[in-house]
Amino acid sequence: MGDLAILADLQTCDTRLSQLRHRLGNLPEVRELAAIEEDVSDAKEKLTHLESEISQIKKEQKRLEHEVISLETKIAKSNDALYGGGLTSPKEAEALQDEIKSVQRRQTIVEDQIIELMEKEEPIALSFTSGSNAIERLEERREEISGRVLGIQSEIEAEKFEVETERASLVSSVTADLITLYDKQTVRMGGNIAVARLTGTTCGACFLDLSALDLDKIRSADENEITECPECGAFLVK
Ligand SMILES: [Zn+2]
Repeated sequence: MGDLAILADLQTCDTRLSQLRHRLGNLPEVRELAAIEEDVSDAKEKLTHLESEISQIKKEQKRLEHEVISLETKIAKSNDALYGGGLTSPKEAEALQDEIKSVQRRQTIVEDQIIELMEKEEPIALSFTSGSNAIERLEERREEISGRVLGIQSEIEAEKFEVETERASLVSSVTADLITLYDKQTVRMGGNIAVARLTGTTCGACFLDLSALDLDKIRSADENEITECPECGAFLVK
């Protein structure tokens, strides 16, 4: 194989490497992971909000429950005074009975408020549970996709390593000057193919057919003479 033909193989390696790098940097699974990450973070924020609502309700509920206990104690004390036999007048008894009734009314109000709070908490607690479950499912999915991404990445890395090894052996088989020429041609061609084979009458870089005159020029050139595709400027290897 002529040295120029080796450059064509080098180009094949570089094209493959660039495809592999592009694939590695644009895995749809990685994009999906980012979307899941966002969903998890949104769901967690909602959960924190619900959690604080629930904790506020519970705090208020506890406060009311303490009030019920203190009202019950007050009623018990008044009952003791009423039936303890220490009363001196019917007026005193009447006042105590009025007080008991008033405390009982307050107790009823507070107990109703506790029930209202429990009813208010119920749907919030349900949302909290379903939110937690949703996060769990998202995290499972994230785990699964992360595993898949690692697998794909290591497959691509292995292939990259293989191509890089092949490239290194190609580079070591030609002169440094030729590699410099290849590098310059690569820069000159931008992102396009810099060296290609002539397949029949077609340029392997731009896939255009060459004229009979150009073909003749290329075919009659020395093996190590550099010929360019007149259409795209790529070096053409016979
Ligand atoms: Zn061409």
